[in-house]
Amino acid sequence: MVLVFAETVKGGFKKAAFEAVTYGAKTAAVLGTDCVALVLGEAADAGQLGTYGASKVYQVKNANLAQFDGQAYTAAIAGAADKVGANVVILSHSSTGKSLTGRLAARMKAGSVAAVNSVPTNDGSFKVKKPVFSGKALATYEVTADNKVLSLMGNSIQPEATGAAVSVEELAVDVPAPRVRVKEVKRVEGIVPLPEAELVVSAGRGMKGPENWGIVEELAGVIGATTACSRPVADSDWRPHHEHVGQTGVAIRPNLYIAIGISGAIQHLAGVNSSKVIVVINKDPEAPFFKAADYGVVGDLFDVVPRLTASLKKFKEA
Ligand SMILES: Cc1cc2nc3c(=O)[nH]c(=O)nc-3n(C[C@H](O)[C@H](O)[C@H](O)COP(=O)(O)OP(=O)(O)OC[C@H]3O[C@@H](n4cnc5c(N)ncnc54)[C@H](O)[C@@H]3O)c2cc1C
Repeated sequence: MVLVFAETVKGGFKKAAFEAVTYGAKTAAVLGTDCVALVLGEAADAGQLGTYGASKVYQVKNANLAQFDGQAYTAAIAGAADKVGANVVILSHSSTGKSLTGRLAARMKAGSVAAVNSVPTNDGSFKVKKPVFSGKALATYEVTADNKVLSLMGNSIQPEATGAAVSVEELAVDVPAPRVRVKEVKRVEGIVPLPEAELVVSAGRGMKGPENWGIVEELAGVIGATTACSRPVADSDWRPHHEHVGQTGVAIRPNLYIAIGISGAIQHLAGVNSSKVIVVINKDPEAPFFKAADYGVVGDLFDVVPRLTASLKKFKEA
């Protein structure tokens, strides 16, 4: 059986949860088995995971799961997998999923692949693909262990809500008390977090200074995009660090990445070159980013960006 851990935030499901359940259902179909979903803690309307392909939803309610704790969550997921007889566990490759995949694999004595982006094969072996070398190559991994733990790269599958809501069953699982207490959580409100964003408008040192970011935010606002930046921009405190994308920042794969005044250094590309469509605006026709671009505009960003925003506004109004 395939068990999918569906992540929640403030009692609602993350988009990554719907992606993971859709992926789990496809994996279960390939393996000729069922896909069930697991919810830890409170979640409104957990049965809706059935619409994405879960045949049943299990929910573990336990005071020790009130805040995220790696050990407690690992114990809960491993305990649930054991109880329902699941040998394939799927997580999202989010910050939560990243901190659970290795622990869970160790606890379940499982073969594990993090950041997969393809449904397993069904040719007598269990093979999955994942991007490697900063997205420059695709590696195929064969998992030979009976138990398997996978984390799914964000935005690598479209959630498919084609089924119907299913029943939710409460599951009693031993959960140890967290050994770490979270004192404070500072959450950025009102925007789609970068790892989940489908549209991203990003800018670099070509912006000259933080006082010029209005044109970036306006463009992002018109298309409903999340804003990002290059590392020197965050290092200079022009923008908050959570916007920094690249090798040492957040790795993203949106449907659209608009790069404004960013040169396209290899370390930047490492975190964004899996984007489906890349648009580059740069005044230097030799900027390396153009080699990775699907569309490029050679021009002064202070001229191009406001004109692009105005055209998009007009387009939307029409
Ligand atoms: C170990 C390591 C890890 C790193 N990790 C990261 C990372 O995770 N993310 C990251 O981003 N960087 C990272 N870097 C830094 C990276 O190497 C580059 O230095 C950085 O990405 C450059 O940022 P930038 O493109 O904003 O600035 P610049 O390289 O200065 O480029 C600015 C660009 O703006 C263009 N420009 C200037 N004025 C205008 C204008 N008016 N109109 C249009 N275009 C204009 C220029 O032509 C230029 O191409 C890392 C470096 C190291 C060594």
